[in-house]
Amino acid sequence: MKLLTMKFGGTSVGSPKAISQVADIVEDDLEAGNRVIVVVSAMSGVTDSLIDAARKAAAGNKWGYLSTSETLRERHADVLKQLVPEGDDHDRTLAQVNALVDDFVNLCNAINILGELTPRILDSIVAFGERLSSRVIAAVMRARGIQARQYDAGQFVITDDRYQAANLQWEETVSNVQSRLLPALEEGIVPVLTGFIGQTRDGVITTLGRGGSDYSGAIFAAASDSDELIIWTDVDGVMTTDPRIDKRARVLPYVSYHEVGELAFYGAKVLHPKTVQPILDKRIPLRVRNTFNPTFEGTLIGPDSAPSATVIKAVTAVRNVGLLTVSGRGMIGVPGIAGRAFLTTAKAGANILMISQASSEQSFCFVVMDDKSRAVKQALEQEFEQEIEQRNIDQIDLLDEVIIITVVGSGMRGTPGIAGKVFTVMGQNNINVIAIAQGASECSISFVVEEAHLERAVIALHELALQTVEMA
Ligand code: ASP
Ligand code: MG
Repeated sequence: MKLLTMKFGGTSVGSPKAISQVADIVEDDLEAGNRVIVVVSAMSGVTDSLIDAARKAAAGNKWGYLSTSETLRERHADVLKQLVPEGDDHDRTLAQVNALVDDFVNLCNAINILGELTPRILDSIVAFGERLSSRVIAAVMRARGIQARQYDAGQFVITDDRYQAANLQWEETVSNVQSRLLPALEEGIVPVLTGFIGQTRDGVITTLGRGGSDYSGAIFAAASDSDELIIWTDVDGVMTTDPRIDKRARVLPYVSYHEVGELAFYGAKVLHPKTVQPILDKRIPLRVRNTFNPTFEGTLIGPDSAPSATVIKAVTAVRNVGLLTVSGRGMIGVPGIAGRAFLTTAKAGANILMISQASSEQSFCFVVMDDKSRAVKQALEQEFEQEIEQRNIDQIDLLDEVIIITVVGSGMRGTPGIAGKVFTVMGQNNINVIAIAQGASECSISFVVEEAHLERAVIALHELALQTVEMA
């Protein structure tokens, strides 16, 4: 008997048909004698529509959020109508749906009156998506004879009050799961938990950041000491590259925690970047599988670095980034310039994706997302006003229309010549490399090229990934 934590994403619970597929999957595992913890996302599109409705409320558009509320009501009621026979459970769950949607409308009314949307209120708004989906999904499972029980995850997942991207309080969360969730499992209950949602110590709803249900799944898997975490999604697994860029992309049978971390950080949208964090120490295997192709094994993600022949495993590209360069002869040997630059960037609210410095120390550059790049440039110009005036720093440059390409593979560690190969391929394709960085873990190389080269660069490098995968 195994304990499995399964997380189902938005498309996996996006329609009555998909939800019934989810129930099949859970049923099969229970029949095989396993115990299951279920973590669910909101139905596909719901989180976006909730954010949109809240913004409309703040802008005084009452019609906007009322129409969202009707769609929410209908979509969830429709699942019950199609998959839960008439009776007490149907009516009780429908009443819960209606009560939650009423709460949503009330909260929007308040936002409308105040004309202001705070991050704290926005978290309460977006949480309705998972609170609704989990209730109807649990009812669907019960209609099949599964002893499913819905829980709002906030009663287990404790966070700080950094709304919209709350930080987990691990010890309290584990103790909640062990003292209150595990006993329910012992009784044969299948918990159906809201992904994405946490709660502060004071009981205020928080969320873990967009796409955070994967992370929730990992939190529950680790806190319950599950034997396996399965992320059920709408693709077959982790792929060698984006199939929209290169049709030859294929599913990787195995990747390591480190590799998938790099992939998630650098643009492969399969997993939330924090997903491996909770399961890393406990070495809990993670599988990415397709709800709509349930016989396919998917990708296994685990602690071991892959066999050495698979040198480059995958290629990703991050669009919509800007490259900032701080340069000047007066910087040579002056400590603290980089430190101040990164601090200023953090204060401007931007996350640094990649850093590179030439050893001449005459310049260093780093990459942030486009939506913050102008603000960062301005903040840097202010911070270094004096240095610029004294000509110790020439200027702060911002290069738009660039992308980060990342090649990932733990076999790169200690394999000489891989970087050489990668950049030779860029040269052969006439692609100019603007900046390069290699993580100290040596499991990825990232570099910046012009956006116009995206397809050519990815396809050419993917060629290398296909060759090495074949060798394995
Ligand atoms: N529903 C949330 C989102 O769309 C969380 C998730 O699905 O992972 O971001
Ligand atoms: Mg997701």
